[in-house]
Amino acid sequence: MKFLTDRNLGKLTKWLRILGYDTACHAGNIDRSFLKRGAQERRIVLTRRRDMARRNFSGRMYIVYSDNVTEQVREIMHTFSLHLDPQRFFTICLACNEPIQAVQKADVKDRVPQYVFQTQENFQICPQCRKLYWSGTHKDNVLSYLKQHNLIHHP
Ligand SMILES: [Zn+2]
Repeated sequence: MKFLTDRNLGKLTKWLRILGYDTACHAGNIDRSFLKRGAQERRIVLTRRRDMARRNFSGRMYIVYSDNVTEQVREIMHTFSLHLDPQRFFTICLACNEPIQAVQKADVKDRVPQYVFQTQENFQICPQCRKLYWSGTHKDNVLSYLKQHNLIHHP
C-alpha cells in the first residue's frame, strides 16, 4: 500500500515512513496534477482538503479528518486496515522516501558519534541522500508511543 500526501501533511508523511509505508509527498499545488500523480503512481491520495472529494477522480483518495497527527495515523490505520509490523519500522528514509540499505559497521566509523558506534551493531544508509540510520532506541520509542496511544497491541 503506497500513499501520496499533500504538502500540508508533513507530520503524517513522516509517521507513515517511520512505520514502513512508501509515502510520497507532493510539493506542488493541491490540484488536478496532485490527483493525476496519485493515479499514475498508483498511490492512495491523502489530503485534508475536503473540496477534493468533489473532484472527478478514478483513483483512491481519503480525506483526512483530524488535524492531530496521532489521530491521523489512527484514521489511516483504521480506514485501510493497516497492521503495523515493527519489523518494517525504519526501513524507509524519512527525508527521501527511499528504502534504506544495510551498510557495514566498519564503513560508518567516521560518520557516527563514538557512543553510537560503540553501542550499535546495525546501520543502514539512504542510497539517495546518504543519511545514516541505526534503529537503536528510536524503534523502542516509536513502539512505546504506539502502545501508549493504543495504536499497536503487543504482548
Ligand atoms: Zn534519504
